Amino acid sequence: MSIKENLLKIKSSLPENVTLVAVSKTKPVSHLMEAYAAGQRIFGENKIQEMTEKWEQMPKDIKWQMIGHIQTNKVKFMAPYVSLIHGVDSLKLLEEINKQALKNDRIINCLLQIHIAEEETKFGINEEELEDLLASDSLKKMNNIKIIGLMGMATFTENQNQIKKEFQHLKSIYEKLQSLNIKNCKLDTLSMGMSGDYQLAIACGSTMVRIGSTIFGGR
Ligand SMILES: *Cc1c(COP(=O)(O)O)cnc(C)c1O
Repeated sequence: MSIKENLLKIKSSLPENVTLVAVSKTKPVSHLMEAYAAGQRIFGENKIQEMTEKWEQMPKDIKWQMIGHIQTNKVKFMAPYVSLIHGVDSLKLLEEINKQALKNDRIINCLLQIHIAEEETKFGINEEELEDLLASDSLKKMNNIKIIGLMGMATFTENQNQIKKEFQHLKSIYEKLQSLNIKNCKLDTLSMGMSGDYQLAIACGSTMVRIGSTIFGGR
């Protein structure tokens, strides 16, 4: 099947309230342009330099989302254009995003990445660190960032029950935080689900799925 066919098939299967991020990391611009021609406007990348090169070459109505781990010293390269940063996992990183957003006279939307998987290698903060972050005074002073939701990755396993438990856990944290009364935190986005587990993620309440290989083929 072509990229266009893959994309349209996935899109037609998604509920209306679920946003599709086409994860295009490692793929050439020509492949992204096939998805663009089929109507896709939201792309996810995991390296800032690669995303910036693609942003320079491609139509400007694309929304670029950073889904990978972020080095603080590289935030400045995406600050002029990035539409959503999924992998925010520290106050220090938020401070840098806020600083660079201010320089660009923008407000940058962010998701806090929560560690829900069993593996220690996956990035993200735990619930305790999340509480500390949300309670911090410096967060309340950041006028150029907006926390619009949470992101998480389940354990890489065949065990559907375990994946489901991890997604349900993230959803429960998300629900708890929706009543939060902080002016730059208004949660309406729950980013969970990839090629292998997005249907399960949607069943568990995901509002944003990040799908790469099912659209563009293996990497
Ligand atoms: C690569 C990646 C995806 C997409 O993975 P696929 O299995 O190809 O759909 C989703 N989220 C993150 C954070 C990724 O790094």
